[in-house]
Amino acid sequence: MEQSVQFLLRLLGGAVMGTLAEASVARHGATRPDCPRCGRTMRLVEQRRGREMRGLVGDFVYGRPYYQCRACGGGLAPDDERLGVGSVGYTPALSRVAAMTVTEVPFERAARNLSETLGTTFAEAEIYRVVEALGVVAEAEIQVDMAIPEANPATPTGDTLLIGVDGTTSFIDGDWHEVKVGVVGMLGPELQHDAETGRDLLKVSDPRYCAAVATEAGEFFPRVALLARQAGFGHPELRRVVCLGDGGRWIWNRMSVFRQDGVEHIEILDYMHASEHVWQVADAFFGEGTLDAHAWVGPVLQDLLKQGPTPLMDALGKLRPRSARQKRELQNAKDYFTANRDRMRYPNFVAQQLPVGSGVVEATCRTLVCQRTKGAGMRWTRAGAQAILNLRCLHLSHPDRWRSFFARHPLRRTPRLAELRQPQTQAA
Ligand SMILES: [Zn+2]
Repeated sequence: MEQSVQFLLRLLGGAVMGTLAEASVARHGATRPDCPRCGRTMRLVEQRRGREMRGLVGDFVYGRPYYQCRACGGGLAPDDERLGVGSVGYTPALSRVAAMTVTEVPFERAARNLSETLGTTFAEAEIYRVVEALGVVAEAEIQVDMAIPEANPATPTGDTLLIGVDGTTSFIDGDWHEVKVGVVGMLGPELQHDAETGRDLLKVSDPRYCAAVATEAGEFFPRVALLARQAGFGHPELRRVVCLGDGGRWIWNRMSVFRQDGVEHIEILDYMHASEHVWQVADAFFGEGTLDAHAWVGPVLQDLLKQGPTPLMDALGKLRPRSARQKRELQNAKDYFTANRDRMRYPNFVAQQLPVGSGVVEATCRTLVCQRTKGAGMRWTRAGAQAILNLRCLHLSHPDRWRSFFARHPLRRTPRLAELRQPQTQAA
């Protein structure tokens, strides 16, 4: 019974939406626009050209004046933009729901979820087009914001900023992609109990995320810097910046941009990544996963957390390599830990209730990028993967960021972007 009612309500909803859209078109009257491409005045070719839309409450068609440019042949319906509609055939409300669904599950399941919930059929490829277009708009916003480094920093909601960066690889539609991930949030003063270690740590609040596919560090860090500025980096009320990352040189070389006069700068080597390197040595010297390896690693890692890097360096110094592999692993580890020595003052960090394991960053990597996404006949381009990542980042960040993105009517900007991306088909 309820499904029949839903079916009827969609018919009714579509009719209401179509009527409202046309009423809005009629109210605003028609003025001849200038061609967005070549600037000439366009001519009216149809008074009520129908536009098919799929919506959250029903599908509908609305008629609106359609103009064409005599010079370049481009067509335009100015009412679409005013109504918040772009080049894709979904209403703003439906596209927002589709986008959120896709940030949670792969496209194929998103299509099934939407179809099941709304009682009609939505095609995977259709959803892909809509969501990719939104993600491309999000990317354009990021690019614009990154290009204005002088913008005033936001007022921070606390006095300590946490900046975490990590790299991972993601399996997206049959290919491995390198993905860099950044998280920026306020640290404390509220505390959070960490059940695993039994310690109370400063709580991370208002986290913001960014991620980039196959990007050089030099292109990636401006994204992190943008998030940091939006969270209050550069504002005089900020007292402390805590940087958390693995030992990768690409990270620490760049983290220095978050140094500022009068602001305490703390760099922490993610304890999990440090452990991985200790394990690599143990595997080389005592055999992979053997009891001997465990026996060596256990106390070394405990001491690292309780006493800092010195016992670890001593333990490495006592190892005597008997093969080329052991010699190489030992040297790598010594180099790595020497370079990161100051970032391993764990007892000091723990005393300040700072996070030493990038649980925050790791979780981000998992949620953001490690989700397998597949779709029949869909090929992920770098731009496409980036578009989806942008929406995932918006969704995982504070709900205000998701809401404000859609309050800026992103679909309105999709026709122009679609035009920009189109290869030129006509000689000018
Ligand atoms: Zn034109």
